[in-house]
Amino acid sequence: MTFQDGGRFEGGRVQSRSGGGRGKGIAVGGGLGTLVLVVVVTLLGGNPTQLLSGGGSGGGSPEQVAEVGACSAEQANAERECRLSATVQALDEYWQRTLPELAQDPDVEPAVVSFQDATETGCGSASASTGPFYCPPDRTIYLDLSFYDLLSSQYGAQGGPLAEEYVVAHEYGHHIQQLTGIFDSADRSGTGDDSDSVRVELQADCYAGLWAGDAATTVDPDTGVPFLEPITEDELAQALSAAAAVGDDHIQQQSAGGVNPDTWTHGSSEQRQRWFMTGYRDGSVQSCDTFAAASL
Ligand SMILES: [Zn+2]
Repeated sequence: MTFQDGGRFEGGRVQSRSGGGRGKGIAVGGGLGTLVLVVVVTLLGGNPTQLLSGGGSGGGSPEQVAEVGACSAEQANAERECRLSATVQALDEYWQRTLPELAQDPDVEPAVVSFQDATETGCGSASASTGPFYCPPDRTIYLDLSFYDLLSSQYGAQGGPLAEEYVVAHEYGHHIQQLTGIFDSADRSGTGDDSDSVRVELQADCYAGLWAGDAATTVDPDTGVPFLEPITEDELAQALSAAAAVGDDHIQQQSAGGVNPDTWTHGSSEQRQRWFMTGYRDGSVQSCDTFAAASL
């Protein structure tokens, strides 16, 4: 349980795609050199330009596209797609209230696509193994909801609703960075535990914490009901477990058996948890200025 009983969410914010991977021969990092040189902003570490392969060649069955409709809080607590939809709408409300100056931007709300197996994006082809990401050129968050199972089974996170909401809030944070110009001012070509790349990612974690801390105390103006129930210690532990699972040191230890901070792009498990908690506890956008932080 996270969404408060009595809450209700209009829908219309999440596009649901299925069947996009069948018969298209999409290969991640496929061998013909068709890598798309767009820097996407993923949840996970690694070189993001290597995650998306060139477009599929068409054929196969057509992709099914639908919109996620209205959901009650009860549905959002029980079904992943409803949870995603409700989380996005709570994030819309939070960020438009918190940074009203962004409202002038016609793209103030990011598009959100939930897909199964594979889909085409403004940043190339994506598959479930890409992990959730934000694609700046089309200002869209993409995620395959089965990633949440991977997050537990492969990366060792506890799972749970607040863990899923953290992932969405992190990607939404990248959209905010797009709007505020951070992506223009930061040099995201470098790696290392002190790099702008890591500062961008830790700021998105902090933004996720900001939202989580606010959503439990703020009433949804549409329903008069707070978005989230008060967050329990267990739920907070779930979100922190997810943040730790996607830390660069944890992923490196798992995949390579050793840790090399010089190649970090997202920050360590400890850093990701700490910056999430900074936003969660402090509650101010200023507290998430990772670019001003003397040490990360
Ligand atoms: Zn990220």
